[in-house]
Amino acid sequence: MTDCVFCNIITRKLPAEILYENDDALCILDINPIHYGHTLVIPKRHCRDFLELAPESFPGMMEAMQVVSNALVRSLDLEGYNIFTNNGAIAGQSVFHFHIHITPRYKNDDIRFVLQLKQYPDGEISNYAERIRSQL
Ligand code: AMP
Ligand code: ZN
Repeated sequence: MTDCVFCNIITRKLPAEILYENDDALCILDINPIHYGHTLVIPKRHCRDFLELAPESFPGMMEAMQVVSNALVRSLDLEGYNIFTNNGAIAGQSVFHFHIHITPRYKNDDIRFVLQLKQYPDGEISNYAERIRSQL
């Protein structure tokens, strides 16, 4: 994809601070980090979101995530970190080449999802489970 920023980083047409790569994944520093060291794990083959990610690249993606997480923990002396991915504009995705965020966390860093947790009305949890299982 010639107009995709991450494809252009993968082919080295655009610059990035590359941390690690294997056959399936490239890991770079996010240019607008939540915290310094915030890393993106990007599949080398273009796909829009998680559902388009080729299953053959799962092991390579997971290996890259663990290698980089380990390096972040050791180099930045982290007590914790988040791994997350935004899929779809409604979920906050802004670059439509799938990627996984790994971001350091610190005590009192004031990063919070503001959530209003629901409870299932009687029986609804089973209905939801059945709906989802029917599409597996
Ligand atoms: P998302 O909003 O989940 O799609 O995340 C996209 C991320 O890509 C954002 O955190 C951006 O800061 C980051 N980003 C966009 N362009 C670049 C770039 N050229 N190099 C590194 N990170 C980038
Ligand atoms: Zn791409």
